[in-house]
Amino acid sequence: MKRHALSAAFTGTLLSVAMFASPAIAQDKEQFITIGTGGQTGVYYVVGQSICRLVNRLDDANIKCNAPSTGGSVANINGIKSGELDMGVAQSDVQYQAYNGTGNFEGDAFKDLRAVFRVHGEPLTLLARADSGIETLDDLKGKRVNIGNPGSGQRNTMQVVMDAKGWTMDTFSLASQLDAAEQASALSDNNIDAMVYVVGHPNGSIQEATTTVDARLIPLNDKDIQGIVSEYPYYSASVIPGGLYKGNPDDVETFGVAATFVTTAKADEEVIYQTVKAVFDNFDRFKRLHPAFENLVAEDMATQGLSAPLHKGAARYYRERGWIE
Ligand code: GLU
Repeated sequence: MKRHALSAAFTGTLLSVAMFASPAIAQDKEQFITIGTGGQTGVYYVVGQSICRLVNRLDDANIKCNAPSTGGSVANINGIKSGELDMGVAQSDVQYQAYNGTGNFEGDAFKDLRAVFRVHGEPLTLLARADSGIETLDDLKGKRVNIGNPGSGQRNTMQVVMDAKGWTMDTFSLASQLDAAEQASALSDNNIDAMVYVVGHPNGSIQEATTTVDARLIPLNDKDIQGIVSEYPYYSASVIPGGLYKGNPDDVETFGVAATFVTTAKADEEVIYQTVKAVFDNFDRFKRLHPAFENLVAEDMATQGLSAPLHKGAARYYRERGWIE
């Protein structure tokens, strides 16, 4: 008995020695990473969950990833800055403004912000109850509009629209700031006339709203919107395809941004490298995780629509794939 116990202890020691002497790519210490996403009925939540799913499958990296729901783009960048989040999803306009200290980030440039990759396109999506009488963007005047929670990308982009129009909160009879996940039910309960969401399509939120109430996607393509698109490099004209949502059979012209995945220069090179590798080594699997990912092209994600410098762990992987010099 005694000998047995001793040899078990000895084997245990050997095992732990073997674990510490594991190959160079393996991380000895378990690393926990947190990815900031958005509301649960949006697409960012699925982006974060999908990345974590692939990262958690890695055998050697020893990374445990989680991706909680958050307030959205601005909250994610602020969370990365304060160290609460390691990575996050953010609109390309918010990425640009945060890195350069413009817009919402005036005088507060976050020079350690790093781009990892671009994801799907996000049109500014204005959805109005059919009985509200809203048919154009200008019809929002005097209406009850959910302009987005502080911390969300839509709140940020809606401010750009309001500034271009010369509008203030008083332009609306009610300017609510409900979370993304709350606005579909607010619309169907007739607490608001219209909701604003900068989001990939199709998504659960617009689906929920259009199946519970008669609601229409409103075009955003007037002179002021065209002015915004020509003034800022990170906005472009975009179209929400017809037929994705009940009662909305036609294409709707609007403008939009891209969703991007970001981190800080302080994030560990190996962790970012492994995260990027998990996504792009399993890219077909990643694309199947949401219909908004369907048309993504891996190399374009690494090279287009990014305004902050690439994180060095991401650059290392893209160089290995021959996507960048
Ligand atoms: N674009 C939104 C934001 O920045 C989030 C959209 C989503 O969750 O898919 O807050």
